[in-house]
Amino acid sequence: MISVDVYRETVTELLGHAPVRTVPVAEAAGLVLARDVRAGVALPPFDNSAMDGYAVRAADVAEVPVTLPVADDIPAGRVDVEPLEPGTAQRIMTGAPLPPGADAIVMVEDTDRGTSEVRISRAASVGNHIRRSGEDVTEGTMALHAGTVLSHAHLGLAAAVGLAELAVYRPLSVLVVSTGTELVEAPNPLQHGQIYESNSVMLAAALRELGCRVEVVRSVVDDVAEFREIIEPRLESADLLITSGGVSAGAYEVVKDALTGQGVEFRKVAMQPGGPQGCGRWNGVPVVTLPGNPVSVLVSFEAFLRPAVLSAMGHSDVDRRRVRARLTEDMTSPAGRRQFRRGFFTPVLGEVTGVVGPRGGPGSHLLAAFTQANCLIVLPEEVSAASEGDEVEVLLL
Ligand code: AMP
Ligand code: MG
Repeated sequence: MISVDVYRETVTELLGHAPVRTVPVAEAAGLVLARDVRAGVALPPFDNSAMDGYAVRAADVAEVPVTLPVADDIPAGRVDVEPLEPGTAQRIMTGAPLPPGADAIVMVEDTDRGTSEVRISRAASVGNHIRRSGEDVTEGTMALHAGTVLSHAHLGLAAAVGLAELAVYRPLSVLVVSTGTELVEAPNPLQHGQIYESNSVMLAAALRELGCRVEVVRSVVDDVAEFREIIEPRLESADLLITSGGVSAGAYEVVKDALTGQGVEFRKVAMQPGGPQGCGRWNGVPVVTLPGNPVSVLVSFEAFLRPAVLSAMGHSDVDRRRVRARLTEDMTSPAGRRQFRRGFFTPVLGEVTGVVGPRGGPGSHLLAAFTQANCLIVLPEEVSAASEGDEVEVLLL
């Protein structure tokens, strides 16, 4: 048996790093920036008005009320602004360039809104309602740092400093395959002995949430020749193959039988659920083979797949938030294995932590209990029992 931590390292190394490529700014949301971005222009690029109003010299409006001739009109987008002569005003709109010589804006609400001459009723000090060039970003400075997970705000800034494309880590293309002769795809009717396939639905959604591209083969029967025939040609376009089912100790273990000796190594990881695992390369493509029970799939995803996939796509923060919490009931755990139990964490007001209780039993088929959980309770390898009131580690989902 190998430890969860060593297995997580192994899978992370197997997945490596996705290649870097440039994408249009608008398509980069959620991806990780691969190179620093410098601002090609200052923000704002020029001194401009923060208000609809009148550009003036502050000295000309020191004593109010005062009436000034309106020498020009400056809508946003005008590129041929004339200097402001002393003793005059120019009507100006928000975002329009400040005329040379002007040092203050009087907002329209403090005037009679005149167009040939304007009566100004409130004095303005130097700099009033002026947005200075470079106030937000200086030209040539670092606007975005490599490693940033690009949010809509980051994309907005990239667009604002004049970028059309960004260098990002390419999303992984993942092929998700469920195996099991018993699997049926809804809405086909079930016969006794069959179940509805659910693992591929969960894995595809979880991977897409991380930003992966996903192709799904909903179910392959437990037949080695058929497995190879269906999956092998699809490997070509995949960065990663994830299978579920067919890796434990019974007969008809299709994934194990098909991939043993092909570059994939099968072993036991010291965790519960999700002990039987396999990983390696098949035709050069990284492969991670998960056991079939739905909760094993979800726990495997949390324990090592999610961090490895995030790391491959350039993320540095790959861990769920961990907190300590007091148990609300006694629990047991198999000695020598790290147990991940579905739990519900409730913060306690006035305390740094909270309380947590299990949802459902340890059985790896209890999928409904997972949907009622908001965390995983982690009982370490050396712990075989924990009592109500004990502090345990919790991974917030
Ligand atoms: P296996 O790892 O193939 O022995 O499967 C373990 C258990 O998980 C069995 O009860 C399977 O029927 C179930 N199982 C396997 N694959 C799926 C799947 N894709 N969706 C739902 N249940 C599954
Ligand atoms: Mg099976």
